[in-house]
Amino acid sequence: MTRIALVLGDITGEEADAVVNAANSSLLGGGGVDGAIHRRGGPEILQACRALRASHYGKGLPTGRAVATTAGLLPARWVIHTVGPVWSREEDRSALLASCYRESLRVADELGARTVAFPAISTGVYGWPMDDGARIAVETVRAASTAVEEVRFVLFDEAAYGAFAERVDP
Ligand code: ADP
Repeated sequence: MTRIALVLGDITGEEADAVVNAANSSLLGGGGVDGAIHRRGGPEILQACRALRASHYGKGLPTGRAVATTAGLLPARWVIHTVGPVWSREEDRSALLASCYRESLRVADELGARTVAFPAISTGVYGWPMDDGARIAVETVRAASTAVEEVRFVLFDEAAYGAFAERVDP
């Protein structure tokens, strides 16, 4: 059984085996979590992302997939970059959001990571409603078959924390 923990704070300060980045498909950095991870993690992460683009993801990392790099100067061993879907009113993209959590855990298993910190993927610039984003995150992690012992959701504000707390312990 994977334990779920909730933390209010900045994911770049998390001491975990792996920290998940809400990246964009270019892997070349962006705002929100992505910007914060690259700022605090230093240039080594971007360098690794550039190399991955050149070797495997010339067209970008597809939505719902995940890939790992060094964590640079962050207090973690790896950063797992995953590309969340942009929220759409017309189209149900929940399977892609669930895939981000599942694929990140699969990559974590490949690495041998036992503690993994996740942000609330897609709930920032990508516009996913927080309550639904929290539901998908918690349901997917609970249903995953993984050797990861602890998943820590690192929430940036009280509203996000509340939405996740409601799902973990209703
Ligand atoms: P996306 O493009 O997938 O929506 P964002 O980075 O814009 O990704 O936002 C995802 C979530 O992460 C949002 O809820 C946002 O408030 C939160 N967030 C932004 N910066 C941080 C940070 N440093 N640590 C943890 N969560 C963060």
